[in-house]
Amino acid sequence: MTSGLDQKLRVQLRQAMQELERLEARLQNKADYGPGKGDPAIYEWEFTLAMRETAQARVETIRQAILRCKEGRYGICEQCGAEIDPERLDALPLATKCISCARSTRS
Ligand SMILES: [Zn+2]
Repeated sequence: MTSGLDQKLRVQLRQAMQELERLEARLQNKADYGPGKGDPAIYEWEFTLAMRETAQARVETIRQAILRCKEGRYGICEQCGAEIDPERLDALPLATKCISCARSTRS
């Protein structure tokens, strides 16, 4: 695969990891939040927690994509083994399924 793609994924990984670090840092401040139930700060903390989970999943997804690149499996549909449309990959670099599989699995 092209090194440009690898570069693109690495930039995304760096951004995702920075985001994760930022969220982790925010979660360290839990002690500052009041213990009162219904405290907006608690909601914010829980929201940050959920965001951290999303960020972690994103980091993992990007890592997988980089791994697929290295193994030459990038751009291959994990469901049917067909090549994923380059235009689709351009729009969704982390796509692991071709458009027809993605459509058929979407409920
Ligand atoms: Zn497919």
